[in-house]
Amino acid sequence: MPTDLKELYRVNPSVYYLRNAHIPSCFLEIQGQSEISQVDLKIAKGKIVQITPSNGENTEDIISYDLAKKLVFPCFADLHTHLDRGHIWERSPNPNGTFAGAIQAVINDKKEHWRTDDVYRRLEFGLKCSYAHGSQAIRTHIDATGPKGLATFKVFEQLRQNWSDRLELQAASLVSLDYYQSPEGLALVEHMNEQGHILGGVAYMAGDLEENLDFLFKIAKQRGMKIDLHVDENGDPNSRALEKVALAALKHDYLGQVVCGHCCSLSVQNTETSTRIIELVKQAGISIVSLPMCNMFLQDRKENTTPFWRGITRVHELQLQDISVCFASDNCRDPFYGYGDNDMLDVLSQSIKIAHLDKPYANWFKSVTSTPSRLMGVSSGMIAINSTADLIIFSARYFSELFSRPQHDRLVLKSGKAIDTVLPSYSELDDLIFSWI
Ligand SMILES: [Zn+2]
Repeated sequence: MPTDLKELYRVNPSVYYLRNAHIPSCFLEIQGQSEISQVDLKIAKGKIVQITPSNGENTEDIISYDLAKKLVFPCFADLHTHLDRGHIWERSPNPNGTFAGAIQAVINDKKEHWRTDDVYRRLEFGLKCSYAHGSQAIRTHIDATGPKGLATFKVFEQLRQNWSDRLELQAASLVSLDYYQSPEGLALVEHMNEQGHILGGVAYMAGDLEENLDFLFKIAKQRGMKIDLHVDENGDPNSRALEKVALAALKHDYLGQVVCGHCCSLSVQNTETSTRIIELVKQAGISIVSLPMCNMFLQDRKENTTPFWRGITRVHELQLQDISVCFASDNCRDPFYGYGDNDMLDVLSQSIKIAHLDKPYANWFKSVTSTPSRLMGVSSGMIAINSTADLIIFSARYFSELFSRPQHDRLVLKSGKAIDTVLPSYSELDDLIFSWI
């Protein structure tokens, strides 16, 4: 039985066994007591057709690869990114690491550099990284104000078409919510509706927030559009935009999908307030996406002061109420987050350490796989009979190994076939990023 998985990449057989796979039990329909199940998977014509305990009883004479307890995950789904800003750090760093510094740096970069070729190539660079790391679906927010916003959407639509055989791509607009009440904003809504995009925006705690939310839910309901908002990305306990969004969704009897990202201030509110807001979030059926890496980078940053607040929202309390909680990568090598590689394993690994998701791991692995996959409508994100064999095979055998080494040697299967997982070289973007030299 071959153990060298490189052979799988070279041969790409249409029927084969993956034997002695270690699968986190949360991904299996029949779950045992332990957090890891050791199983044999039979793959045929791109689908998983058989899952059996590894007990040496499968003697069928077909190609078999012994995974020797390597961990197998379903492919990732990255629910919240900003691919349009990505990979600009070297030309537009954040001078002081603050949220305000990030906003200004991106405004300047956009004014100076965002032309079709620049946006297309940086967006595609992010897609190449995501794909090689094992993502099957990505939702990006797009800076959507003004003519450049619409132009970025058109670049995204071209990429969505060019990558349709490899990735499910979704886009949401990023504007301040009052923008939708302007003629340009309404034109944007019509374009997004035609193209199947998602209504997004930043829900600021301003005096007109309720009015803006009323308008947003009205246009979403009329057109059957989904909503995906940035809320409360700050450490101010008085920032309760999440509560306002939940109240608006209930008021309008909105039955479509609402995702709220960040929700940082929820974790600095007192228990009475946060419990009340979490109850409303549950009633309104809102899903939450936390962006721990970006939040750690920006929140609680003050000059000459050591940060002590982690910036993440109350993920445990939300999950305990059966609210869907996802983690996502957010920004990547741009002024909002100076690091990252669109790698959802990195997101999961850091989230586990930042938010104590390991006692037990339980269902947290679903927060970067099954849960966002379901919200994006791509797959169940489970490892089940008849599901497409979109899988990631890591060299790690146990979770302590998985979350201690980077796993850049992972193997990614799409419909049962091994894909090329070589990451794009940073130098691909040199002529865009270092054009000022
Ligand atoms: Zn964001």
